[in-house]
Amino acid sequence: MVYDLIIIGSGVAGMSASVYASQYKLNHLLFGETPGGQGILAGKVENYPGYVSIPGPELMQKFIEQVKNYGIEIKQERVGGLAKIKAGFEVKTNKEKYQAKTLILAMGASHRHLNIPGEEKLIGKGVSYCSICDAPFFKDKMVAVIGGGDSAVTGAVHLASFAKKVFIIHRRNEYRAEPTWVERLGQKKIEKILTNEVKEIKGIEKVEGIVLKNPYQGSQELKVDGVFIEIGQVPSSTLAKQLGVELDERNYVKVNPGMATNISGVFAAGDLAAVQEGILFRQFVTAASDGARAAAGVYQYLQGKSPTPSWGSRFQ
Ligand SMILES: Cc1cc2nc3c(=O)[nH]c(=O)nc-3n(C[C@H](O)[C@H](O)[C@H](O)COP(=O)(O)OP(=O)(O)OC[C@H]3O[C@@H](n4cnc5c(N)ncnc54)[C@H](O)[C@@H]3O)c2cc1C
Repeated sequence: MVYDLIIIGSGVAGMSASVYASQYKLNHLLFGETPGGQGILAGKVENYPGYVSIPGPELMQKFIEQVKNYGIEIKQERVGGLAKIKAGFEVKTNKEKYQAKTLILAMGASHRHLNIPGEEKLIGKGVSYCSICDAPFFKDKMVAVIGGGDSAVTGAVHLASFAKKVFIIHRRNEYRAEPTWVERLGQKKIEKILTNEVKEIKGIEKVEGIVLKNPYQGSQELKVDGVFIEIGQVPSSTLAKQLGVELDERNYVKVNPGMATNISGVFAAGDLAAVQEGILFRQFVTAASDGARAAAGVYQYLQGKSPTPSWGSRFQ
């Protein structure tokens, strides 16, 4: 059997794509090793429209229910290979082979870890990989941001509007972020610590402090309540590369504003995708939007310029 569409990834992007594919009546499969993806790691989510505050796993459960409501089961199989065939594409999992006319790649990304003592144990207990997501939970607290690129520097500036004090610690002697953002580190609440590294995160039930490699103002220990590790993401793009999908210099899948890749019939969405010349913004709301647009792209690809659904505007 040749499906209209196979979606790889059951995070927010993949599940949103599935909901829209169901509404477009596309005969599709949804694969994902971890239903909910990164979403199940989020503590409280307070920036997804429609929910004032909801734990990440609970929000993901609602997505899963919505997918199921259309009769789609998430296949918890690991996709290990993709190939171009006459009918479209072949998807090889650890169990079987499947065929589809189109693909949506939504394999997401993972945050780089420092791999230092205390880090894993304190994730969600003061250790965070997302300043934009978790800053409001650190109102009037002491926090440290680790990293020197755009996400670390913009994260530190964002945190400064909540926290009492923000240390931004980078192992090099200058920050790599855009100069206009680096300038904004000059504000009173932010303290720059360069040519230094964090060796350990201390705390039992929650983060209590960090240990630096070199002393800072006479001490190797800093008391903080939160540690934001912003040293980049690793996109899960191996499968895409295998198929000849074009990646950008950071290994994200390049897509146009319609979420189409360079390969006809292959679309990408969510944290894995980088809309060319778009803002790099990796959130639930953007992943959901990407998934919806990718499904609309698939519909358009399969149907040509056929009549549009009543709730949408006509495709251009
Ligand atoms: C701790 C934490 C807290 C966060 N908090 C917030 C927040 O408060 N607000 C917010 O907006 N954003 C938050 N984010 C960011 C948000 O989680 C992501 O932007 C979003 O989940 C990305 O969704 P995605 O579907 O693109 O990818 P992912 O969630 O990464 O999903 C990828 C999916 O692909 C599957 N997969 C990958 N490879 C394969 C394969 N080979 N075969 C089968 N399946 C595969 C995975 O199992 C998973 O199901 C947070 C992130 C983290 C880590």
